[in-house]
Amino acid sequence: MIQTVVEIKKIRNMGLVAHIDAGKTTTTERILFYTGRIHRIGEVDEGTATMDWMIQERERGITITSAATVCLWKDYTFNLIDTPGHVDFTAEVERSLRVLDGAIIIFDVVNGVEPQSETVWRQADRYSVPRIIFVNKFDRVGADFAETIAQIKKKLNAAPILVQLPCGKESGFKGVFDLVLDKYYSWDDENSKSFNTTNVPDEFKQQVKKYREKLIEQLANIDETVAEKYLHNETLTVEEIKAAVRKATITCKYFPVFCGTSLKNKGIQPLLDGVIDYLPSPADMPPTAGTNPETEKPEIRLPNEDDPFSALIFKIQIDPYVGRIAFIRIYSGKITSGETVYCPRTEKMERISRILRMHANNREEIKEAIAGDIVCIVGLRGMSTGDTICDSKKPIVLESMDFPEAVIWVSIEPKTTADEEKLSYALGRLTEEDPTFRVKVDKETSQTIISGMGELHLEIIIDRIAREFNVDARVGKPQVAYRESITRKVIEETKYIRQSGGRGQYGHVEIQFEPNTEGYEFVNKVKGGNVPREYVPAVEKGIKEALESGPIAGYQVINVKATLIDGSYHEVDSSELAFKMAAAICSRDAFRKSAPILLEPIMKISIITPDSFVGDVMADLNARRGRITNMETKGTLHYITGTAPLSEMFGYATVIRSLSQGRASYTMEPAHYEQVPKNILEDIIPAVVV
Ligand code: GDP
Repeated sequence: MIQTVVEIKKIRNMGLVAHIDAGKTTTTERILFYTGRIHRIGEVDEGTATMDWMIQERERGITITSAATVCLWKDYTFNLIDTPGHVDFTAEVERSLRVLDGAIIIFDVVNGVEPQSETVWRQADRYSVPRIIFVNKFDRVGADFAETIAQIKKKLNAAPILVQLPCGKESGFKGVFDLVLDKYYSWDDENSKSFNTTNVPDEFKQQVKKYREKLIEQLANIDETVAEKYLHNETLTVEEIKAAVRKATITCKYFPVFCGTSLKNKGIQPLLDGVIDYLPSPADMPPTAGTNPETEKPEIRLPNEDDPFSALIFKIQIDPYVGRIAFIRIYSGKITSGETVYCPRTEKMERISRILRMHANNREEIKEAIAGDIVCIVGLRGMSTGDTICDSKKPIVLESMDFPEAVIWVSIEPKTTADEEKLSYALGRLTEEDPTFRVKVDKETSQTIISGMGELHLEIIIDRIAREFNVDARVGKPQVAYRESITRKVIEETKYIRQSGGRGQYGHVEIQFEPNTEGYEFVNKVKGGNVPREYVPAVEKGIKEALESGPIAGYQVINVKATLIDGSYHEVDSSELAFKMAAAICSRDAFRKSAPILLEPIMKISIITPDSFVGDVMADLNARRGRITNMETKGTLHYITGTAPLSEMFGYATVIRSLSQGRASYTMEPAHYEQVPKNILEDIIPAVVV
C-alpha cells in the first residue's frame, strides 16, 4: 500500500521523454518493476508493456496517452508521466511538460540525438524543465558514447555533465562507474533486482579519476563552494558534489548523464537514485503565476500546504470503471475528498467526490492530496483540460496551455441510426479527453467533420470509435485543413436595419480590416460612444463568427486585425443581436474585397535514410513541393531536414517505406502556414467543403 500523506520535498514529478524507439516504454517498465509496482517486466515487442494499455498502442508498439502513474523509490513518491513519442502527439508532450518539474530524456547510444529529440528538447527549454539524460542501449552494436555526447553539445546546444561512465559496450557492456561516489556498479543476473557496488577495479582507476576531476572542474566553473575548494586543492565530499550537481541541474546549467541498457536491465536503479539526487521537488520550483479573476491583477501561489488551494487540470480521461476523471497538478494548498472547489471559468463550485492515485490501469483511493502532487479527481462535471480549480475565497486562474490548430480533417457518418447516438457520445467523450481533437458539423452539407494533428492522430481516434465505442461509421478521405487570410487593408461600413412593426433592429458599424502578422486582434477606437460600450462585445462576436468561414472556400480566416472605427445606434431599436449581425455582414463583405488568399499547413520533416536511397528520397520530396533546408551525413546515414506542404504528404509512411526498402525513417510535425501557389489552388477549390 502506498502511503497517502507525502512530504513535498519527497515528491518527484517527472516524465520520460524520447524520440520514438529510444526505449522510453522499456525503461518505464523497468522503473515500475524496480519500484515494486509490477511483478513481471512487460515487453514492448510482445505487446505486454504496462503503461501502453490502450489496444491501439499495443498493436502499433507506440505510446499515445500521457497516463500518469505513481511509484515509490526509497520513500520518495515519483509521479511518472508517460509522454508520447510520436510527433503527431507533440501537444501531449507539451501538456506534460507544463505540469512536470523534471524529466529523464532518453537517447539511443547508437542513433544519438534524433530529430524529434531536438523538438522535445526545445519544448523542455521553453518551460525550463530540468533534465537528466539517460543514454540507453549500450548493449547494441555500434554504441558510440562519445559521439552521442558530442551531438548533445552540438545539436542541442546543451551542457551535459558526466556523473557516470560506461564500462565496456555492446556485448561487453558490464556496468557503470559512478563518478560522484567513485564506485563501480555491475549487474550479473539480467532479471535480478539487485546489483553489486564495488570499488573501481584497478585497471579503470586512472580513467575514472580523470573523468571525476573533469566533473569537479565543470562544477567549479559555476559553483562558488566547489570553486573555492578546487582552487585550494581540497577534497570535496560526496555531499558537496551532489549538492552542486543538483543546483546546476535545477537551474538547467548542466544535464547529468547516466548510462545503461533498459532491455538488459542495467543502469536503472542508479538512474532512479539520480532522480532523487538531482531532479527538483515541487518545493524547489518557483511560485506559480496566475491572475485573480475578480481584479484581473497578477497573483502568485507558493508551493506549500499553507497557501490557498490551486490546481491545474491537465488531462481529462474516461476511465472504464470510475467514469470521468481529471488529472490535476496541485500547485498550492491541499484538498480533501468531499470538499468543494471553485472553477473560475464556469464560475461554479464543484465537489471533489473522490481523489485517486493512478497506476496505468489500476487506481487507489486517497483522502487528501497536497501542493506539488499529481492526482486524479472524480466528480468534476463541467471542467475541461486547461481549467484551474481553486479555493473559492482566494480565486486564481493559472496560466493555461496552448494547443496547436488542427491541420487535417475527415468526414465521419454513422452507418445506421443506432450508431448515430453512439457516435455523438463517442465524439463528445473523445473531445473531452483530447484538446487537439476537434469536431464540427459542416453547415452546408450537415456532415460531421473531425480534425486533428496528423494522419496517425485521426487514424487512432477512428480506431477507438470503432472498438471502444462500438460504432459502425463511414469515414471519408483525410483532407487538409486550409486557412484563409486577407492581404489588403479595407474599411467597410454596414448598417443592419430591420423594421417589422413593433421594435425593430438597428446596428451600424464601420470597421477597418488589415493583415496581421500573428493571429487575430481586435481594437476598439470608437469615440464619443457612437457604438455604446455594451454593444462592443457583440461586434467582436460578429467578427469572430465571420472569421470562421472565409470567402474563398469557407475555411477559417486567420491573421486579421479588426479596428472598430465608428458606427451609430438607435435608442430603442439597437440590440446586441443587431450589432452582431451588422459586424458579421460587414466582415464578410470586407474579406471579399481584401484580396483574400488560401493558406496551407506546411510540415517540418526530418528523414534519416541510408546512402543508397538518398537520391530517390530527395527526388520524391522535390516532386512533393518539398524544400530541403539541411543535410548531414553520419557514417552511411543521411539526415535530411526540410519542409513540405501537408497536402502532398498523405500516405508518406508507405511511400518512404517502398522507396527505401523499409530502411528510411521520418518524423513530421506542423510548422506554419503558407499561401497556396496559384496552379495548385485551381485543383483544390472544387474539392473544398468545410
Ligand atoms: P519507445 O518508442 O521510446 O517507447 O521505445 P520502446 O521502449 O518501445 O523500445 C523500442 C525498441 O527498442 C524495442 O524493440 C525495444 O525492445 C528496444 N530497446 C529498448 N531498450 C533497449 C536496450 O537497452 N537495448 C536494446 N538492444 N534494445 C532496446
